[in-house]
Amino acid sequence: MNLLIFLERDARRDLERLNFPASNWVPALEGPDGKPLLDVLVVGGGMCGQAAAFGLLREGVRNFRIVERSERGREGPWTTYARMDTLRSPKHLTGPDLGVPALTFRAWYEARFGRAGWDALGKIARLQWAEYLAWVRKVLDLPVENRTAVIALQLAGDLVRADLRGPHGAETIFARKVVLALGRDGSGAPRWPEFASFTAESAAARSRVFHSADEIGFEAWKDKRIGVLGAGASAFDNAGAALEAGAAQVALFARRPHLPQVNKSKWTAFPGFLRGFGALDDARRWRFYAYIFSEQVPPPFESVLRCDRHAGFALHLAEPWTDLAPDASGVTVTTPRGTHRFDAAIVATGFDVNLMDRPEIAAFSKSASVWADRVSAEEARAHPEAARFPYLGEGFELRERTHRAAPGLRNVHVYNWGCTMSHGALAGDIPGIAIGANRLVDAIVRDLFVADADRHWDALLAHAEDELAQTPYYVPTERR
Ligand SMILES: Cc1cc2nc3c(=O)[nH]c(=O)nc-3n(C[C@H](O)[C@H](O)[C@H](O)COP(=O)(O)OP(=O)(O)OC[C@H]3O[C@@H](n4cnc5c(N)ncnc54)[C@H](O)[C@@H]3O)c2cc1C
Repeated sequence: MNLLIFLERDARRDLERLNFPASNWVPALEGPDGKPLLDVLVVGGGMCGQAAAFGLLREGVRNFRIVERSERGREGPWTTYARMDTLRSPKHLTGPDLGVPALTFRAWYEARFGRAGWDALGKIARLQWAEYLAWVRKVLDLPVENRTAVIALQLAGDLVRADLRGPHGAETIFARKVVLALGRDGSGAPRWPEFASFTAESAAARSRVFHSADEIGFEAWKDKRIGVLGAGASAFDNAGAALEAGAAQVALFARRPHLPQVNKSKWTAFPGFLRGFGALDDARRWRFYAYIFSEQVPPPFESVLRCDRHAGFALHLAEPWTDLAPDASGVTVTTPRGTHRFDAAIVATGFDVNLMDRPEIAAFSKSASVWADRVSAEEARAHPEAARFPYLGEGFELRERTHRAAPGLRNVHVYNWGCTMSHGALAGDIPGIAIGANRLVDAIVRDLFVADADRHWDALLAHAEDELAQTPYYVPTERR
């Protein structure tokens, strides 16, 4: 029996008991445009944006907007370019619930499939995770504005000016705080490898070469030959999707002589690391993550077996691509061992962290400090990926590269994968989400209060609620 309707009622009662949503306490201010000033703009309505909005409502920061460029139900990777059957993470993880038991994945799953269903569950199905996130959003009544994108942000003194585009056209607003909950590529962009014969923008490339983060029409690949570059999860998941769509041959190529075997990131998913990592000194934080990134992440065994059971699958280890040449009828891949001809190719080469790649923050990304500024040139050269991560403050805020830079920078909070070098994976993987959202919201709440301290002082002086009016001991104001 589907008990979701009862769980929903329980969850709402729990939230009510927790006084959710709390009353707004932030003073109403006017922006430079003469309109009410927004306290927080959350950009991105995926898992992290949702968690941030939940946290803000819980703390009584009610004057915020959360905008999401995609259609409702298409947020994040889950129903778009994520192609694994199940999540990598174990089923008992929590996160988007922010500690409310009735909002956990387990509660949702048990309501749908019973306790026995939960016991029998191995790993969480990807589409069920998407359904669960949508359910959390519905129960919390989060005011996500879909089909509304932030096109550009600019610093305006202490404030941030945002140009939005949504169903009703363009709009410019001012906000005191901005949360960049832009996703895995949210501090950069999909990484494209460079080849002499390949230009991503050419017509041949656009119809035959795809990044694993692209939407791909696999159904058109029945009986086709597909080449895949990469050895991580997305390489195998895309290969699996192509094989299941009926591709005759899928060849996966990796530079390494063998697949990575150990997922070092998995080790970090314990409370001590998740809560404590951000408090370490720069040298230790650098040591941990420069090492973790350099170790690379193995594909989940389920993804490997998914491919391996197809006769048309071949794994070419120690065979990197040295050239990729798309043309009108296919693509030619060159490797040190020869050439291969395919109908189409997928590059599963992940995402680059590079703030300069984000169009939304182009106006000020150069002013933001990155980890290369904090380590020796030699270290930065040895670990270029780690070196490009933004160097964030305690509340995920951008920091100035020099003291002359704009103060508004500190009101831009990077709550996406880009926070990993500074805080650990508190916005990149599900197990860290709740700790991350709480840390982010604590910082925003603190900053807003501190900035308004004098207004709060005035409010305290004006506070005149008579507590004893119902008693014989009441003394009117003029006689006190
Ligand atoms: C393929 C894949 C599989 C993963 N599997 C797991 C897993 O098994 N376990 C795990 O713990 N983690 C996993 N992760 C990591 C992580 O949990 C997800 O990336 C998760 O989606 C992160 O949530 P998010 O809110 O940061 O990003 P997203 O869910 O991607 O949300 C970001 C949102 O921002 C929106 N957006 C971007 N730019 C703008 C703009 N300018 N204006 C408005 N909206 C914008 C996007 O449309 C998107 O909906 C996976 C990641 C990927 C990519």
